[in-house]
Amino acid sequence: MARTAEVVIIGGGIHGCSIAYHLAKCGVKNVLVVEKGFLASGGTGRSAAGFRHQFGTEVNIRLAAASIKKLERLAEELDYPYGIELFQGGYLMLAYSASQLEQLRKNASLQNRLVNAGTLILSPREIAELLPGLNLEGVVGGSFNPRDGHANPFHVTYAYARAARRLGVEIQTYTEVVEILHSTSRVLGVRTSRGEVIYAPVVVNAAGPHGGVVARMVGVDVPLYPERHQILVTEPVEMFIPCMVISFTHGTYFKQTPHGSILMGVGDPAGEVKDFNQRSSWQFLVDVATKMTFHLPALRRARVIRQWAGLYDMTPDSQAILGPVPGLDGFYLDIGWSGHGFQLGPIVGQIMAEMITGQEPAVDVSYFSIERFKTGQLIPEPACV
Ligand SMILES: Cc1cc2nc3c(=O)[nH]c(=O)nc-3n(C[C@H](O)[C@H](O)[C@H](O)COP(=O)(O)OP(=O)(O)OC[C@H]3O[C@@H](n4cnc5c(N)ncnc54)[C@H](O)[C@@H]3O)c2cc1C
Repeated sequence: MARTAEVVIIGGGIHGCSIAYHLAKCGVKNVLVVEKGFLASGGTGRSAAGFRHQFGTEVNIRLAAASIKKLERLAEELDYPYGIELFQGGYLMLAYSASQLEQLRKNASLQNRLVNAGTLILSPREIAELLPGLNLEGVVGGSFNPRDGHANPFHVTYAYARAARRLGVEIQTYTEVVEILHSTSRVLGVRTSRGEVIYAPVVVNAAGPHGGVVARMVGVDVPLYPERHQILVTEPVEMFIPCMVISFTHGTYFKQTPHGSILMGVGDPAGEVKDFNQRSSWQFLVDVATKMTFHLPALRRARVIRQWAGLYDMTPDSQAILGPVPGLDGFYLDIGWSGHGFQLGPIVGQIMAEMITGQEPAVDVSYFSIERFKTGQLIPEPACV
């Protein structure tokens, strides 16, 4: 069986679905998304789905501001009747040392200068007013942006997929790309696990943590590795956490969902496995419970209802790898989001569509080119967990 497409997108997470929608919106016909599981079954559906202006590098701040604007009116733009559970209660970043507070100050002033973000620096007293249940031991201050927040990652992805389908995009789920057809200088199409060959002049790798495996199908080496991250969820309780919270000192972040569950995670790059293992661990349960009952002593009485694991697609500078691959026409990368890719999916889908159709990207993402690993001039993103 053989057929053709204009663009084949590998991966049906937030990035693949957003790219598909934006390509169709730009008038590209015959776009196909191939997803080996169900939509959002990768990092997207396993994420905490937080979004924030509060990054420390120019490119991420500009992307975040543009993406948040899109999220604020996404359900309307995509005519999605169920809503995306957008919750803008703000994002609080805690500092436990003078140097950390100084870094948050620098980040906030960059955010405010570049995109007029409205990020504030708060004293411990102001933090206590915002979040009375928080243990302030060791807290010297923090940064807070009231327009940051969280959403439902399944709704956001399905909203894009639905709108894309309406515009003629085909989405094949439970179908894996097992081979990328290519010559020495360009891609030619893909072969799927259903035995189908789809000839296409453009193939996009939006395979998340499997981005390295997919890139190797065309002989391209990307410095990307999977890293397990886990989340714990409590039973629903009365609303007492009005905002998302992060502590770089403890590697913790947490939020309360609209129906009351508290969702919490710990980033532990040293202790976490760096392979495709997505099993939950007992060690995480103990670690997160210890750290979270320090932050929120009231949680000692809350019951845990579930736990899951997902993978970050990590790069050496915790920054994405985006755009065409020099020397291999038609092959595009949208991978390496290093734990902060959900929130940037809306704007990055637009930027990828602009790149593929030869338009000027809305935000300059040239730093994300795969070429930077040749020169070694890396600018790590400091605001990551
Ligand atoms: C625990 C956790 C918490 C997180 N919290 C946040 C957060 O609060 N905010 C934030 O912005 N980000 C967060 N992230 C990161 C975020 O989830 C990712 O950066 C983002 O979802 C990446 O989206 P994606 O579409 O690129 O990849 P994915 O969602 O991983 O999608 C890639 C898809 O490709 C498919 N695929 C792979 N190989 C193939 C193949 N050969 N053929 C067909 N399909 C294939 C996979 O099945 C998968 O569905 C978190 C991640 C985790 C794990």
